[in-house]
Amino acid sequence: MCELCNSIKDEHRLIKETKYSFCIICKCPLRFWHLMVMPKRHVMQTNMNDLSLEESHDLMCLLNDIQKIVEDLSNESAIILKNNGKHMTQAHLHFHIFPSKWNLRQLVANYENLPERIDISYEKYIEMRDKIKQRIYEN
Ligand SMILES: [Zn+2]
Repeated sequence: MCELCNSIKDEHRLIKETKYSFCIICKCPLRFWHLMVMPKRHVMQTNMNDLSLEESHDLMCLLNDIQKIVEDLSNESAIILKNNGKHMTQAHLHFHIFPSKWNLRQLVANYENLPERIDISYEKYIEMRDKIKQRIYEN
């Protein structure tokens, strides 16, 4: 059985349950107010489009509500992240939410030791756009 499917039973971590979603305190959190929001149904992390419209809406509403609460309690702005590919440690779709002193650009730049902004040429924008569009429309 999936650890995240089961996590809804962990009363000491369960924050809120809606019709299709729930929010729990992350196990071994990065910091205080590190929460996770996920669908109740076991939807694969790689297949967000398996969510029904009702489930998606419910999940986004819960994320929105929890974001405001995290920000109120922490006096910082919240970051919402989802692992993908080789970074996934759980198959069950879930979003991490936690307060951060930095915005997403600063957070990633600091962590990855990258500049916060790079200049790319008009041609590179076009190249990137076309490669992504090709993938979108090739099926
Ligand atoms: Zn699951």
